[in-house]
Amino acid sequence: MIRLGLVGVGKIARDQHIPAIRNDPRFALVATASLHGSIDAVPAFDDIDAMLTADRAIDAVCLCTPPGVRAQLARRALAAGLHVMLEKPPAASLSQVDALMVAARRAGRSLMATWHSRETAAADAARAWLTGRRIVSAQVIWREDVRQWHPGQDWLLAAGGFGVFDPAINAFSLLTRILPGALEVVAADLAVPVNRGAPTEARVAMLHDGHAAVTCDLSIVHAGPPQWDIVVETDAGRLVLGTGGHRLTIDDHPQTTDADGEYARIYARFAALIDARASDVDARPLMLVADAMLLGQTRALPAFEF
Ligand code: NAP
Repeated sequence: MIRLGLVGVGKIARDQHIPAIRNDPRFALVATASLHGSIDAVPAFDDIDAMLTADRAIDAVCLCTPPGVRAQLARRALAAGLHVMLEKPPAASLSQVDALMVAARRAGRSLMATWHSRETAAADAARAWLTGRRIVSAQVIWREDVRQWHPGQDWLLAAGGFGVFDPAINAFSLLTRILPGALEVVAADLAVPVNRGAPTEARVAMLHDGHAAVTCDLSIVHAGPPQWDIVVETDAGRLVLGTGGHRLTIDDHPQTTDADGEYARIYARFAALIDARASDVDARPLMLVADAMLLGQTRALPAFEF
C-alpha cells in the first residue's frame, strides 16, 4: 500500500486524481496540503511543510498545484524521502526539471512526470499506426475557451503560467508520443494581452525529422465548441487524432479503441515505478513550449478579463 499525500486540492485534483486514487487499491490517500482546499475525512494541512512534519506516514506525493511552485514542492518531498508524481507541466522551466531529476536520483526515489493526454487507447493506436510510415505533414488545432475550462485561474495568464500552452502542451505531449521522429520548433507567433504575462493565442511552426512541416494553431480565447485535433498526412494515409486524443480516424474511417482510463493508467504506472525504484520524466513537450517562447515573436492583444 502506497500512502499518498495530495498537494494542491483544485480542479484537476477533484475531477481526476481523487477518483483515480480511490479506485486504485495500491494507494491510500492519507493527507492533503492546499492553501484552502480539503477533502472530507482526509487530514488537511495548509502547506507541504506542515504535511511533511506532521506525525503521518507518507510514502509519496502527487503535486496538483499550478506549475510555478511545483519544483520547490517536489524538492521538499524528495528531500523528505518521498516519491513524487508531477501533474503536467512537470515544472515551470526545463532547468527545474533537470534539477529535479538529479534530486530524485540522489534521493533514490521515483519521479514521474504525467502527460495525461498520452494515456488513451486512441493515442496508443495512433502511435502504432504511424510507426514505419513517412510523415508528410501534420497540423495541430488546439482551441478552447479559458473562461469555460479554467474559469478565474489568473495564475494561468501570469508569466510562468503557460497561458495558451497550459492546454496546448497536451497537444505537444501527443505529438512527441505518436510521431516516430524528432520535432524541432522553427518559428512562433505569440499574442499576449496587454494586462497579462502569458500568451492567449499562438502559432507554432515545427519540423518533423528536419523536413515535414508541423503547424500548430493554438488559442484559449476561442468562441464556440473546443477543437483538440491533430491531423497527420503520411505517405500511406491520413490520421486524425481528435477530441484531445480520445478519437482516432484513419482515412476518414473512425476506429474503435478500448475505453479510456487516463488517470487510472497514470496511477498504475506510478505504482510500477515505485516498485521498480525507477523514474519517468519526458521533458520533450516542455522543451517545445520553451523553444516556442525562445523563438517566438510577441505581439500585444487588448486586455483580457475573465
Ligand atoms: P486550480 O484549480 O487552480 O488548482 C490548483 C490548486 O493548487 C489550488 O487549489 C491551490 O490552492 C493549490 N495551490 C497553489 N499553490 C499551492 C501551494 N504552494 N501549496 C499547496 N497548494 C497550492 O488548477 P488546476 O486546474 O487544478 O490545475 C493544476 C495543474 O493541473 C496545472 O498545472 C494544470 O495544467 C494541470 N491540469 C489541469 C487540468 C484541468 O482540467 N484543470 C487538466 C490536467 C492537468 P487552494 O485552492 O487550496 O487555495
